[in-house]
Parts: sequence; structure tokens; C-alpha cells
Amino acid sequence: MKCMKCGKDAYKSTTTEAIELSFGVLVIRNIPCYKCEECDEIFYTGDVVEKIEKVTEMVKQLMQEITVIDYEKVA
Ligand SMILES: [Zn+2]
Repeated sequence: MKCMKCGKDAYKSTTTEAIELSFGVLVIRNIPCYKCEECDEIFYTGDVVEKIEKVTEMVKQLMQEITVIDYEKVA
């Protein structure tokens, strides 16, 4: 795997991604990624990007459901 930014070798690693959502921040840990040994650029393979998007969508829906339930219980 080569770095998309500088073309040097990138090695397998894991990273933590913080995704800003309307209700707060979603933090995903231990995401498999490639990290450039030269410029520290981090990039993901296509299936990892897809999975991150799926998880983000899932959490968005979950959080909305939990918010509705909390409101009804409090009200
Ligand atoms: Zn690089």
C-alpha cells in the first residue's frame, strides 16, 4: 500500500476517528487503517470506509430513538 499523498510506503495500523454528529461526537476506536511512514497520512480501504459510514448511520438512528424514549419518560 502506497501513500496517496506522497507515494511512500504505508504500513498497517489502527486509528481512532472522531465523527461530529448533530447531537455530539461519535468516537470509533481501533479502526484498521494504513499509515504513511513518511508524512503520517492515514487512509482507509474501501470496505473500511463503507463500514464507518454504516456504523455512523446506525448510531445516528439509535441516538434518535434513545432521545425520543427519554423525552417521553421525562415528560
Ligand atoms: Zn505520505
